[in-house]
Formats: sequence, structure tokens, C-alpha cells
Amino acid sequence: MLKTNTQHKIKAFFQKYTYTLIIGITIMAVAITIALTLSAGDDNVLDVGTKPIEFTSPVANGSIYKDFSSTELQYNEALKQWEIHKAIDYVGESSTQVLSAYEGTVKNVYTDYLNGTVIEIEHSDGLKTIYKSLDNEVRVAINDKVQKGTVLGVMSTSMAKESTGTPLLHFEVQLNGLLVDPNTYLNTTNK
Ligand SMILES: [Zn+2]
Repeated sequence: MLKTNTQHKIKAFFQKYTYTLIIGITIMAVAITIALTLSAGDDNVLDVGTKPIEFTSPVANGSIYKDFSSTELQYNEALKQWEIHKAIDYVGESSTQVLSAYEGTVKNVYTDYLNGTVIEIEHSDGLKTIYKSLDNEVRVAINDKVQKGTVLGVMSTSMAKESTGTPLLHFEVQLNGLLVDPNTYLNTTNK
């Protein structure tokens, strides 16, 4: 009998307060949603003022010889084989200047047989630009700060892996250590 009474009381309680409970839960859910939206809004406020990164062309003049490809095979005349080419190759005269595409810090300068003379520049936001096939007389050293357009050196035929006898710049872009399409950061009318 006592049990039945308790059940009746519980049932009566819910019948009386169902709407109050539903309204209470709804108000809490709305309040939580507003709080989350506002805190997300605060993060966005911090981003105001950051513009998308835009590179300048890494060559003073010259034309694109081989574009970036992530899946499509391109023929490598130096190695006589088809391969994926995750870079942009520019060709020009031997005096063609190679420029830093964006502001950053020179992290590495080296020469090896396959890649020729190479300069690596670290930028903000996990970005890195890599310039291969330069003449070995480079204009910058490790730890130098460079601006967009700083002259790094001139293109050459030093990259055995890709050289066909024409001076060349092999330009790579890394985002968090992975090669990405440089075109994403280049102004297409001026690349
Ligand atoms: Zn290349």
C-alpha cells in the first residue's frame, strides 16, 4: 500500500511538473548553445586581421616548365621516367634571379648531386619553401631573415635529377612537412 502511494506521488509529481521540467531543460540547452557560440566567437575575434598568405613568384622572370601534380604522372627527361612532380619548375636564362616567395628565415643551404644547390626557408603557419637547382653562389646564409622578394641566388643546371641543360628552378612548398601545391599560395596572374 505504501509502495502504491509512493508510485502515485511520483506519477502525480511528473504530471504536475512535466512542462516545468521540459521548459527548464530547453532553457538550459539554449543557454549552453549560446555560451558555446559566444566562446567560439571569441576565437574568431583573435583571427581578425590575419590575411591569407600570398607568395610572390619565386623567379624574377622565366616560364613554367613543369607544374605541380599530386597524382598525374609527368615525364622526367633527365631520368627518362614518368613520375609525380610535387613542385613547380621554372626555366629561364642562367642569370634569372630566384626570389624568396614569402618572408621567413633561411633554415638550410646545401648542395648535393641530385638536387643541386638547395635553399630552405621557414615561414609562419607551418609553411616552408624549398628552392632547388640554384647556382652554388647563393646570396643568403642559414639564419638570415628574408622578405618576400629577397634575392636568394640564380637558377642553374645544378640539379642532376631534373636538368635538361636549361637553367631551372625546382620550387617546392611544404605545409607541416608535407609537399603541397604551390599554386595555392601563388597569385595565378603573377606566378
Ligand atoms: Zn622539378
